[in-house]
Amino acid sequence: MSPMRNDFFDQPIEQFEIVLIDKATIAQIEREITACQRCDRKAEIPLDWILDKITGHRGSTTDYVLETPAYCERCGREVTVKTSVQWSEMERHF
Ligand SMILES: [Zn+2]
Repeated sequence: MSPMRNDFFDQPIEQFEIVLIDKATIAQIEREITACQRCDRKAEIPLDWILDKITGHRGSTTDYVLETPAYCERCGREVTVKTSVQWSEMERHF
């Protein structure tokens, strides 16, 4: 093995997690997304920030994978973990 390869294996990769967001959770999230950044300029909450709150993980060390695509209820466009949205649950839960 080359020195570079040894360095690669020394990285603390176990601190980085991939979390699967299942269909039931996505359906729940979709009901709370009232708008996305493409249909409302006031949408400013990144979806991965919301996922942090729901799952208890931290976005800085977590990669979220959506089991099925999520869509904005208002405009029907696809919403990814990097899309900013309007979130109707904000005032009640966060
Ligand atoms: Zn939208």
